Amino acid sequence: MSRKQKFSLCIHGGAGVISQDELSDKEKNLIVNDLRKSLAAGEKVLANGGSAVEAVCAAVESLENSEHFNAGKGAVYARGGKHFLEASVMEGANLQAGAVANSERVKNPVLFAKELLANKDVVMMSGTNADALAEKLGCEMVDNNYFDNDFRKKQWEQAKKLSEDAIFLDHSNLKMGTVGAVAIDMDGNVASATSTGGMTNKLDGRVGDTAIIGCGTYANNKTCAVSCTGIGEFFIRATVASLVSNLMEFGKLSLEEASRIAIHEHQGKMGGEGGLIAVGSDGKFTMPYNSGGMYRGFVTNEEKKVFIWDEEEL
Ligand code: ASP
Repeated sequence: MSRKQKFSLCIHGGAGVISQDELSDKEKNLIVNDLRKSLAAGEKVLANGGSAVEAVCAAVESLENSEHFNAGKGAVYARGGKHFLEASVMEGANLQAGAVANSERVKNPVLFAKELLANKDVVMMSGTNADALAEKLGCEMVDNNYFDNDFRKKQWEQAKKLSEDAIFLDHSNLKMGTVGAVAIDMDGNVASATSTGGMTNKLDGRVGDTAIIGCGTYANNKTCAVSCTGIGEFFIRATVASLVSNLMEFGKLSLEEASRIAIHEHQGKMGGEGGLIAVGSDGKFTMPYNSGGMYRGFVTNEEKKVFIWDEEEL
């Protein structure tokens, strides 16, 4: 195939309650800096003619290694005080996918999901068996306390106080931090990857949308690549990521309209909160959200920008 197409890459670092008053300049700069690092990691792959899958995984790996996001290092705490990680990857050219839920020891869950994508026999692994397989496949493994972070611990302690006797989780104060990337490479192939620690104080064993192909992650060369962030239960019930693709393929809607409907008309009207990033097979992209803000950015052959609220962060 001839290389004629321009590339685009979008990333997110989570949607949720992001109060302009509570986010200090110092914190904001650290976050924006790590978003830029992630864009650079993905851009390097794409500009060298690499694949969309490699680019989204490089961008997400970079965000997983930053403790400012709820994925990999810096993941939130679950009910029992441990971290349970999720990630998924999908390739639009062949609809291959890989996903992991409830990993406790894989340093970069997105890289394990990429290993699963590369085979045809299994899409999704969970729990200690996932960790054992990741280790066998040569993924870098760490102790669960590698993911510890004081800020996330404080969030968890506050959440525990608020819902001491509750069996289920109160989602009313969504904290952002899940990460994701979507890209189109110079061969015209799209891909998507998403990674998270889930929701603060989630039940041990709970699985969110990030691990589920079609809900938090989807990619199809016929339409687009999508990565979501928000209250996972709504994104699962609204099958947000594949809905965008299906509205485009079967409903003939544009990327922008399909994404708007998925976020604002479907999961939003069910009571959900969050956002998505999506890139179409024509290279156009969109990043709608119905939460207080969403860390996000994009890079193309021509420009690179990072946003938190509605206006650009320089
Ligand atoms: N969607 C993630 C989950 O429910 C959380 C997030 O996006 O912040 O696990």
